[in-house]
Amino acid sequence: MFDKIIGNEKSKELLEHIIRSGNISHSYIFSGTVGIGKALFAREFAKGILCLDKNSRPCGKCKSCLEIKNLNNPDFFQINSDGSSIKIEQIRGMNKNIIEKPIVSSKKVYIINDADKMTKEAQNSLLKTLEEPPEYAHIILISSNDNLLLNTIKSRCVKINFDKLTDEEIKKISPDMSKSLQDYELLSNTFNNLENINIIELLNSKGDIFKDKDDVYGVLENINLIFLNLLRKNVGAASYAARGACEWAPTTKIRQMHRNYRKH
Ligand SMILES: [Zn+2]
Repeated sequence: MFDKIIGNEKSKELLEHIIRSGNISHSYIFSGTVGIGKALFAREFAKGILCLDKNSRPCGKCKSCLEIKNLNNPDFFQINSDGSSIKIEQIRGMNKNIIEKPIVSSKKVYIINDADKMTKEAQNSLLKTLEEPPEYAHIILISSNDNLLLNTIKSRCVKINFDKLTDEEIKKISPDMSKSLQDYELLSNTFNNLENINIIELLNSKGDIFKDKDDVYGVLENINLIFLNLLRKNVGAASYAARGACEWAPTTKIRQMHRNYRKH
């Protein structure tokens, strides 16, 4: 059923078992880091749930399977973020749609991509459906950061974990991607090393990283601004944390901003 997807063999076996047994929960969280094929798994799993062939699900040939492939199956829905969030209106739309009975299959499947991008309001709205889903409905939340999901949502879903692909598996998908991965690791190591040196060393290594100290100050100012904005959102921790931020703020302007902020 997942022959064309590389990696995550244990999750494959588990999902295949669920389809074969017919013991399918109403809600799942497909959890794991970005870019490891969770959405592909979810779509194949949905095909398996909705397939009309009782002997080999998904058959890939029935009306339901073909319509999922062509993205025009009336019992199959995907909800996507607009880039930054999934809004309550989208979930309300789903809640309204889900009470309409299936048309082609005996079931309906809803996939919420980037479910961790649902706003709190959207999550609360979804919760109502998760509490009492129609008996024919199945919802799959795809998440790369479960910490952003409400506990009440998590407790109502069966979690399926997906692991990072091994280097060997990545090579199977694309030899080029393997090269990109090495570049990424090199870059990541460089940044990790930067965290371990102090500011004086950072300034002295200007030749390697930046043209001159102004560039370094520019970057540090931006980091401080981000930090300051975070503090504004988290007033409880602000007073204590702002003191630390002030001491290493690189320029008078930023130090003054921190001081002004602490007065409030
Ligand atoms: Zn089929």
